[in-house]
Amino acid sequence: MKRKKIVAGNWKMNMNMKESNDFVSKLSKVSFDNVDVKLAPSFTNLYHINSMLDSSKIEVISQNMHYEQRGAYTGEISAEMLLSINIKTSIIGHSERRKLFKESNKILSKKVSSAIKNSMNIVFCVGEELVDRKNNNYFDVIKTQISEGIFHLKSNEFKNIILAYEPVWAIGTGITANLHQIQEMHEFIRDLINKNFGSDISNKLKILYGGSIKPNNAKEIFFLKDVDGGLIGGASLIFSDFISIVKSANEQ
Ligand code: PEP
Repeated sequence: MKRKKIVAGNWKMNMNMKESNDFVSKLSKVSFDNVDVKLAPSFTNLYHINSMLDSSKIEVISQNMHYEQRGAYTGEISAEMLLSINIKTSIIGHSERRKLFKESNKILSKKVSSAIKNSMNIVFCVGEELVDRKNNNYFDVIKTQISEGIFHLKSNEFKNIILAYEPVWAIGTGITANLHQIQEMHEFIRDLINKNFGSDISNKLKILYGGSIKPNNAKEIFFLKDVDGGLIGGASLIFSDFISIVKSANEQ
């Protein structure tokens, strides 16, 4: 099945107002037909960048959200707040959230439920650590992250889900998983969804790869059968690199 590719840039805690402005004013002038482009700036730039990209097809998304709607959660942002500024998609479960901010599968499943309850879309990230690879239990780790994170959803809620496989050892390290490792895991994930939710859902599900995608390796990664695009960290901060990666997806 042909699935339209997605390239999503995750700016993490980078890009101040001026840097964001400069980047996005260039980005707003380009358009691509065969790829859906998404950009996740910091919370402080969400509203502003979304306005700048109002008439473009690029979707501005959030890097994170809290599972409660409102209340005494200092420093947090809810689905309701995101929706109020027209942000309809959030990344949930990025490995930095899991590791640095101790977000467990249980917390992430609550975030997923909250997003779905608010009819938001989710880029749900999973990925094993190097030690899991070395111990040969990386399939189990991914299976647990996916089943505990999203298996409570109803079949018809999967239309709101994009998965991102991001081996932690490949994020920001310059080490990319090799093509065999990437395709093997993406196939495993699609198969897991197939077994639990059926082929219609698994065939439509988009699974992105993330982990040191750069202009020089994007094309061969996006060409893999079960890879539907990429989540891009470091390279999304450099305009020419990001555009070159988007072009690689657009050509397929
Ligand atoms: C990420 O953090 O989602 C990511 C893929 O980062 P990088 O591209 O820098 O490895």
